[in-house]
Amino acid sequence: MRGVFIATVALALAALTTAQTPDPAVLAAINHTRAIDDHAHPRALAVNGRSDDDYDALPCAPLEPTDSTITGRLDNPELIAAWKDLYAYPFNDTAPGHVRWLTAAKSARKNQLGNHYPAWVLDRLGIETEFANRQALAPGIAPPRFRWVPFDDALLLPLDTSALAAQSPDRKIFYAREQALLARYLGPRKTPATLAGYLAQIVTPTLESQRRAGAVAIKFESAYLRALDFKPPDVAAASTLYARFHASGVLSPAQYYQLEDAIFHQIALDAGRLGLPVQFHTGVGCGRYFMLTGANPLLLEGVFNDPSLRGTNFVMLHGGAGPYSKVVAALLMKPNVYTDFSEQTYLMPTYQVAQVIRYWLEYFPERVMFGTDLSPGTPENDWEESGWIAAHNGRRALAIALTGMLQDGEITRPRALELARMVLRGNALRLYQ
Ligand SMILES: [Zn+2]
Repeated sequence: MRGVFIATVALALAALTTAQTPDPAVLAAINHTRAIDDHAHPRALAVNGRSDDDYDALPCAPLEPTDSTITGRLDNPELIAAWKDLYAYPFNDTAPGHVRWLTAAKSARKNQLGNHYPAWVLDRLGIETEFANRQALAPGIAPPRFRWVPFDDALLLPLDTSALAAQSPDRKIFYAREQALLARYLGPRKTPATLAGYLAQIVTPTLESQRRAGAVAIKFESAYLRALDFKPPDVAAASTLYARFHASGVLSPAQYYQLEDAIFHQIALDAGRLGLPVQFHTGVGCGRYFMLTGANPLLLEGVFNDPSLRGTNFVMLHGGAGPYSKVVAALLMKPNVYTDFSEQTYLMPTYQVAQVIRYWLEYFPERVMFGTDLSPGTPENDWEESGWIAAHNGRRALAIALTGMLQDGEITRPRALELARMVLRGNALRLYQ
């Protein structure tokens, strides 16, 4: 009996080892494929001589701090691996003096390369093109290596947002940021007195100008501001609310959501017409008050099922990172819905991401995309490092997923290599071009 038990444990361990060891040929092919990064927040060295604050519409930095998951901590061994590969870090620890060496080496490399630095980082990450989700492009963050994905939540918020902002300390900061971004979009223009005027004179022209400026998609960070349950529009009711509160007063959250539903629907229609996929943050987000319940991609089902929006493609960024990954797989059944594993690749350990990717690939492999969600952090653990860890782990997780499918006889070896290429670049090229 004991022998059987030991043999069972040994077999289970062997299975575990196998599951985490990628097939060398599959991993090599993946490592040699230049990727399209579906979602990221790269930071320029400077914009007009000032620090680049356009890397996110709703950056986490001003919020009350939260603990990092273990992959984001200074004692993550992958961080040292990133430093070695990116900056030839000669040490094997994070002693303060050594970390100072690292930040000095990084500064020297930036000074040496100037605005070529961001593209150099992409080269080191094996990324051919990165979709830069930013308020604007910047020196060194420009085509062909970087493509722009602007934020359009601000367009949903043309009236007084003070009742929404009062919902949590995070939202107080975030709604103020959205008001500032809307002011930037408006420029010298004022919001018209009617909803029809606002849609025709502000919303649609803003999307068209984003397209002309090279946008390849638009992004909503709604999950930080409200639940993702956009409803079919009641344009008459929304128009009445708009006209009344444009004159004076503050909408309740429920009234505001009704208005947002109508504006969102117009944006989604315009985006479809302009060939701009609509991206949503889904799953875990930053901040002590983040409402994970509202970030469930299942809440988007009504939008995905709206027959009038079938000409618009939607992307569930981060694949419902954390608890909602399996929901995402089932939603990929919709003909116009895609996902990526950005954020998961630096938030979760590789073996977990591998399980997620495998689950998705066993559903609809044509809808799954590589992504990093690299973003600025501290001087020693910045967008370069989060990008390196995410790209490295994402590739490894993909290889482990495909290896498991190969070993279980679900796919052939040629198909495994084909799927790798689709996830790393083919699916994104098809969707965004
Ligand atoms: Zn992001």
